[in-house]
Amino acid sequence: MDFSANGKFMAATCDDSLASSMDPAGAAARRRKPRDRRRPPAAPPSPSAPQRISTEELVDALRPHLLTPERMWALGYPLELEPNSAKAVVYINPPPRSRTTTLRYTAWDVNAPEFVPGCSQSDSGRGSLGSSPRSDSDEEADTVEHLCVRCDSMYRMTREGENLSQSCVYHWGRVSQDYRHTCCNQPLGARGCSTARFHVWNGTRPGMNGPLEGYARARSPRGGIYAIDAEMVYTTAGLELASIAVIAADGRLVYRSLVKPSSPVVDHNTRFSGIRPRDLARATKTLRDVQNDILGFVGTDTILIGHAMDNDLRALKLLHGAVIDTCALFPHARGFPFRRSLRVLCEELLGRSVQRGSAGHSPLEDARAAMDLVLYKVNEERAKRARMTRQISMFQPYDPLISAA
Ligand SMILES: [Zn+2]
Ligand SMILES: [Zn+2]
Repeated sequence: MDFSANGKFMAATCDDSLASSMDPAGAAARRRKPRDRRRPPAAPPSPSAPQRISTEELVDALRPHLLTPERMWALGYPLELEPNSAKAVVYINPPPRSRTTTLRYTAWDVNAPEFVPGCSQSDSGRGSLGSSPRSDSDEEADTVEHLCVRCDSMYRMTREGENLSQSCVYHWGRVSQDYRHTCCNQPLGARGCSTARFHVWNGTRPGMNGPLEGYARARSPRGGIYAIDAEMVYTTAGLELASIAVIAADGRLVYRSLVKPSSPVVDHNTRFSGIRPRDLARATKTLRDVQNDILGFVGTDTILIGHAMDNDLRALKLLHGAVIDTCALFPHARGFPFRRSLRVLCEELLGRSVQRGSAGHSPLEDARAAMDLVLYKVNEERAKRARMTRQISMFQPYDPLISAA
């Protein structure tokens, strides 16, 4: 790995060798871990030949895909409250229905997002849904109520972070198109198939969140294009950063670190995060260390790429304005808040599998997948433009001087 002694990486700009990364499946095959070599990936469906592209050309090609501040706001990205305040605000779109409240209170809504926990605006008399201080009795004055993002139950914690919840019974899978939980194939609404010791929350609530402290941002331009992926664990403070990987446009790993969460871990979320207790036991860096490392090579103009990167930037507590999100680049047919999964996009567009292992997601694999999806998009757009140029040149206007010559 290309780390300097203090964990920082001196990011090199990508050069002409970038041409190789314009062939996502090929590049992926070259980077494949040794144990995966036995199964070469299927050829991507697109027949477009990879084209050489310079860094400048790539930046120009990516610029139209940068999210506007308005779009970032709508997608849940942290934005700076006021210039140079280092305080963030986040707006979380309230999900229209939850799995359980939909069944309990309303007729089934086919437009409801299947996988986003939350509840409808009208079914709580206590206001905020993600977490709400309660003071309606002396006993509850020192507790905070949260919504469990796994089972949609409301549960209480003391302000000191002691979890007063009962065990959490939930489905870890998604809901399929025929309304079955993919984890156990039981119909929607069936009792959970998995049990965890505690309920968990994600640290945000629907609507406005903030002002939030501890955010960092770049102060000067440094150029570059990087893909970021973070893995999080559940702590008493919500989802916290536990592992992060950053790669360059040519697929090179530029930064990777485990991170010590600041609050006690409630659940390592290993199935999805890939983080085991022993991983965090050897983590030495704090969130602040990792922010400093990343701001060693990410500048104000650096293009950051990720899949649903609002989650990553909230966990990283990083304010950044130049972002490309593969969720927005390849939107769901039914529009936001539906999001296509990284796994499905990779299978469909790159012809390769990600997130298939039982050990949880790898931030390195996911960051590379996001980068390759963006390069795939750029490659497709360039190929399309080249085809159009060829077609136009075939229909030159009749020129009598040329014809007479
Ligand atoms: Zn299940
Ligand atoms: Zn729960």
